[in-house]
Amino acid sequence: MLVAPIVDAKSRELIGTIQIINNKQGVAFPQYMEEGVAQLCETLAIAFRQRLGASNVLQVRGKYDGLVTDAVISAKELELAQRSARRKNLNLETVLIDEFQVKVPALGAALAAFFGGPYEPYKSDRIKPPELLRNMSRDFCVTNQWVPLDDTKDGILVMTPDVERTRASRMVNNVYPKNKIAYCVTTQREFMATLDHLFGGASVLADSGNIDDLLGDLNDDGDGVGVAGDDIASAASDNELVKLVNKVIIDAYQQGASDIHIEPYPGKGKTEIRFRKDGSLTPYIQIPASYRNALAARLKIMCDLDISERRKPQDGKIKFKKFGPLDIELRVATIPTAGGVEDIVMRILAAGEPIPLDKLGLSKRNLELCRTAVEKPYGLFFVCGPTGSGKTTTLHSVMGYLNKPDTKIWTAEDPVEITQKGLRQVQVNKKAGLDFALVMKAFLRADPDIIMVGEMRDKETVSTRIEASLTGHLVFATLHTNSAPESIIRLLDMGMDPFNFADALLGILAQRLAKRLCAKCKVPHQASDAEINALLEEYALEFTNTDAWKADPKGERAKVLESRVKEFGDEDGRLVLHTARGCDTCGGTGYKGRVGLHELLIGTDRIKKDIQEHARVAQMFSTALEEGMRTLKQDGIEKVLQGITDIQQVRAVCIK
Ligand SMILES: [Zn+2]
Repeated sequence: MLVAPIVDAKSRELIGTIQIINNKQGVAFPQYMEEGVAQLCETLAIAFRQRLGASNVLQVRGKYDGLVTDAVISAKELELAQRSARRKNLNLETVLIDEFQVKVPALGAALAAFFGGPYEPYKSDRIKPPELLRNMSRDFCVTNQWVPLDDTKDGILVMTPDVERTRASRMVNNVYPKNKIAYCVTTQREFMATLDHLFGGASVLADSGNIDDLLGDLNDDGDGVGVAGDDIASAASDNELVKLVNKVIIDAYQQGASDIHIEPYPGKGKTEIRFRKDGSLTPYIQIPASYRNALAARLKIMCDLDISERRKPQDGKIKFKKFGPLDIELRVATIPTAGGVEDIVMRILAAGEPIPLDKLGLSKRNLELCRTAVEKPYGLFFVCGPTGSGKTTTLHSVMGYLNKPDTKIWTAEDPVEITQKGLRQVQVNKKAGLDFALVMKAFLRADPDIIMVGEMRDKETVSTRIEASLTGHLVFATLHTNSAPESIIRLLDMGMDPFNFADALLGILAQRLAKRLCAKCKVPHQASDAEINALLEEYALEFTNTDAWKADPKGERAKVLESRVKEFGDEDGRLVLHTARGCDTCGGTGYKGRVGLHELLIGTDRIKKDIQEHARVAQMFSTALEEGMRTLKQDGIEKVLQGITDIQQVRAVCIK
């Protein structure tokens, strides 16, 4: 018997075998037949691979499937890229290039395979076809996603990133009714670069490859002293610097950063730029000392600040779409620092859509209770937590849930970060005398059903707000407090009447953001008894002040253990924990994105009674726990048991 394996050349996967039984001559198979069979196997491997690629492996045909069949990336990576693109609201091509390091020609090849037409790359020496471009504008080409390149013997050559759509629109035939049309496909990036080439105009996305190249283009004279007066203004409008600043902002946005920190050092020290991502700062680049002043001036120009004022803090706002290809806003703060330099910190106001309420990461119990509470026709609902704990995001999710054509919703915010159609949103402007209290009073005269106000600090807003809620409105606000029960005490301290407040209170949601384990590289392991005990002990500890616990600590502890294992364990009662490892996707940290931890206190009859009786925080805590509330720490531990985060991250944000 002669047997040979059919092995895929790239993946080394065994696809099958060939067996030849009984040589006719009744002797052993000769050498040349062995070689022949080996060759046959190779040919079959290629044929099988192509068949598999076309039918079994890829069920849904997508534009970039060619990347998988050509083994540029794996099917799993393509799926991750699609998810990342959806989450960040970027196009898939951008994610494939920037995050998965797919080369542009490989994308072109995939598109060519998908559309069945030739791929046309960006060429910097392309000759403009003035005849064809005569009545065309760049805007028209951007909107309709095609541009004519050449008049060839096969017809007018039209470049487009989507051949099917362009052909189906029949727009090209309308523009050139008498000509034959030949289509070629290209990537989005090369399409935009080609438009820049043909029409002029700078798209930073297209012509600035990466930040290092841009840095290299800066002309560092190395003296570090910087220039003064008019020279700063002209240095600030230097083309390379403008591109660099745009690139920094675009990179920060695309990497999901919330803030950009610009930290100059005096003398020859370089200017450090760091991004805050998922709550932690990471170094981004360093800029030569000689660009220090021009960089600050450029940013000040972008937000209409006084470039000659360098000794006082200033604040402003950049509407980035005036300068670059992204429709985002940045809140800018300048602060003079030691050595006669100026730090600049920019917050990216992600003009985003609200996250649906059921995607906030609320536990099943919290989601149900939250919905019931906010559906009431009037009352007070608070979201509390420190700065950067996602309070506004959560309130907007609630607004999104309540936003219906029959409901009038007024919001007062500083700043307006998330916009929603249907909400009437007011930007508070303290400089102009438009503060929260004033806006609130105006809302009350403006026939509201629901009022949402940003942070509530002073007595005046508190009293107006209470008044509002009692006269038939639903009022939402954020508070700068640590826990739900503590918020009640704070509000009473601010001068709320305990009886009115108890009557109006619907609920208080305390919130923190903990780092999420990177889904791509987290490592599962079956939890040891010691680990489980430690976790559940920490969970149980939160109950120690409740009456039930004081009466029967042992029994209560056993109940906690049992119910946690029942809810989060497998059939055999085993729990799985995950540890962070680190990979390319998460920048080696093991964490990517964040998850909300919640503590939802509902204004039940017992809580209302506690409020009227001026109960202490500890008492309210124990009442709430007895009625089923879970503390931030407990909610966190439940998310640890679900593999969403780990206990270190939960502890880090639940410090009391
Ligand atoms: Zn990772």
